[in-house]
Amino acid sequence: MSRIIASAAIKGAHKIARQAEEILGKAVSQRGPDCKVEFPNTGYYIPIIYSMTGRAVETLADFESVMEKEIKPLLPAPVAEEMWLPYLGPALDAGMATLFAEEIIEACKYLIGPNPVDDIWLGAADDVIMRERGIQFVDGSAPGFAAIVGAAPDVETAVKMARKCQERSLYVFMAGHNNGTTFAEQLVEGDVELGWDTRLVPFGREITAAIYALGFASRAALSFGGVQPGDFRRNLLYNKNRVFAFVVALGKVTDEWYATAAGAINYGFPVIADSDIPEILPTGVCTYEHVVSNVPHDEMIEKAIEVRGLKIKVSEVPIPVAYSPAFEGERIRKDDMYCEFGGQKTPAFEWLTTRDSKDVEDGKIELFGADIDSVETGGQLPLGVVVEIAGRKMQTDFEPVLERQIHSFFNEAQGLWHMGQRNTIWARISKDAAKAGFRIKHIGSILHAMFHERYSNILDKVQVKLYTDEKQVLRLQKEAMKVYEQRNVRLADMTDDSVDTFYSCTLCQSFAPSHVCVITPERSGLCGAYTWLDGRAAHEITPTGPNQPVAKGNMIDEKLGQWEKVNDFVKKISQGNIEKMSAYSMIVDPMTSCGCFECISAVLPSTNGIMIVNREFTEMTPCGMKFSTLAGTVGGGNQTPGFIGHSKFYITSRKFISAEGGIRRIVWMPKILKDELKLSLAPRAEELGLGGDGFFDMIADETSAATEEEVLEFITKSGHPALSLESMF
Ligand code: SF4
Repeated sequence: MSRIIASAAIKGAHKIARQAEEILGKAVSQRGPDCKVEFPNTGYYIPIIYSMTGRAVETLADFESVMEKEIKPLLPAPVAEEMWLPYLGPALDAGMATLFAEEIIEACKYLIGPNPVDDIWLGAADDVIMRERGIQFVDGSAPGFAAIVGAAPDVETAVKMARKCQERSLYVFMAGHNNGTTFAEQLVEGDVELGWDTRLVPFGREITAAIYALGFASRAALSFGGVQPGDFRRNLLYNKNRVFAFVVALGKVTDEWYATAAGAINYGFPVIADSDIPEILPTGVCTYEHVVSNVPHDEMIEKAIEVRGLKIKVSEVPIPVAYSPAFEGERIRKDDMYCEFGGQKTPAFEWLTTRDSKDVEDGKIELFGADIDSVETGGQLPLGVVVEIAGRKMQTDFEPVLERQIHSFFNEAQGLWHMGQRNTIWARISKDAAKAGFRIKHIGSILHAMFHERYSNILDKVQVKLYTDEKQVLRLQKEAMKVYEQRNVRLADMTDDSVDTFYSCTLCQSFAPSHVCVITPERSGLCGAYTWLDGRAAHEITPTGPNQPVAKGNMIDEKLGQWEKVNDFVKKISQGNIEKMSAYSMIVDPMTSCGCFECISAVLPSTNGIMIVNREFTEMTPCGMKFSTLAGTVGGGNQTPGFIGHSKFYITSRKFISAEGGIRRIVWMPKILKDELKLSLAPRAEELGLGGDGFFDMIADETSAATEEEVLEFITKSGHPALSLESMF
């Protein structure tokens, strides 16, 4: 390794360690050593320290111990001028010590200021974001992230670089400044929307905020990879092999930047710089080169992608605006809008239907009615989107699965925004998109290109009819509504008993190797994203993919929901780790959980019932753990009797822990979840003779009970049915 880089990184590490000691001293004197420390609403304690050392930092006193026992021993002596050593090892140690020290600095800022969350700066990603975004790194919809430090020479260059990342679906994590200028502020000046939704994430203006990006990577390994805290080797290898990230250094590279970059290199994340710094070209810790310098700005992103060994597939969509999943979260405010459709202001719907092959001309796009240039800026139009599909493998059951994709396909175009489905849609086209020449027929171009791109296995031809003529929109909407109703009836009629095949999902095995979701008509995948129909469609689309048919075979136990062939499948696919799996029990051989579940159910022993907490609820629960801590206990591909991760949909199913008595066991839920489920759960309560709404009033929430004792008191007073059921164990 270059002596210049090693010596600067080690110098930088010492400087940052001193800063950490200083701020920690201040925090202890202001708040006391027992003061609690955390990044708000995150599990995994202080994540880099926790993942690398296994230390669960909870108080400032714990930080003092990290400083003495981890950081100081890791800090190498400064590099001597006259002596040459192979400096790679010490420089990497200095990098890791730097990251620990930077976590101390950022966590102390949450206590004594300046608050890391300020103005455009977002600070640590909470667990809801972690789950939502982390999964994209697993399923490939986000190929990686660029950690950009410093600032581009001007706003235009910054905007071009950010757009290049977005067009390649990469996340951009921003930290640090170059002489006071930051990349994130340059983007704001260039009118670019920042935030997790647009994949442009401003963590903080100091270089220490880079730990939020590396902490995200560490948490991905813990949360999705089943890596144990303290197993630093596996954590770093997981990141090298699965999280395709790189650092883009813009501007003068200071000692502190070198130190932080050395920390990133530990993860296998290379550094691409625009300045003339020494290069480290041999491969080793990183897949290819470690540091590449002097790269012109217009080549930096491509160079970084090549050096990191990333393979990116860009969809070719023939429209006059950019197209990438990175634009999916872009909002279009009223002032930026050229024209809108639906949103209860005009009639609007979308409907995907199968037609005979002779009636579909592939690529044919027709507009019936006026185009957007017929309305004034800020105007409204009705909209009917009818997608007609022909394909030998196409089935009526796939129609709703494919139809739901219209939402994402529409949103992935820059300057387009879409909400809802069926006849409740609301869509907008921005002024910029209209100015760039986007017209209604381009909606058809998007749908034609993307249905072919993602579903070519099941469809052969796609034609799109677009309607803005109100009379025609209303007429066709009526027709579509009849079909929506038929689909509802069909879905409601599907039960586990009515099929002889379930579907597996092993998508999450890339991060939880022994986990397999067995998806049945009455139990969706635990992330909530896959129903049985989705699993079936996905299998047809990619026959060798993560969704495989699982024949039920002979029934072993009807109450628990165990079948011979399902158990054989789970055993094989979990590499022998899981012998048996019950579809309907959380006590006997429960299904494993990966880390993506929407909710967790946990037994509250003294109440003879269970609590359910959803990911959005970040407060303490009656079992004494927040969602994030519970998730660490339940996830990772293990069976944990008494705890299961599951989707929201499963709670409303007749098979919800039916082996233990079903919804009769629910004694506590956060109010937000209660409200969300009330309508869909009421019919179940009625069926069980629990009195619909009356049953809801018997379930405690955070406003009526915070501890298990208080839950017991509440349900005793309300006469909850769980108290008269047999014991759960
Ligand atoms: S269905 Fe299960 S395995 Fe598949 S993505 Fe969702 S949680 Fe992961």
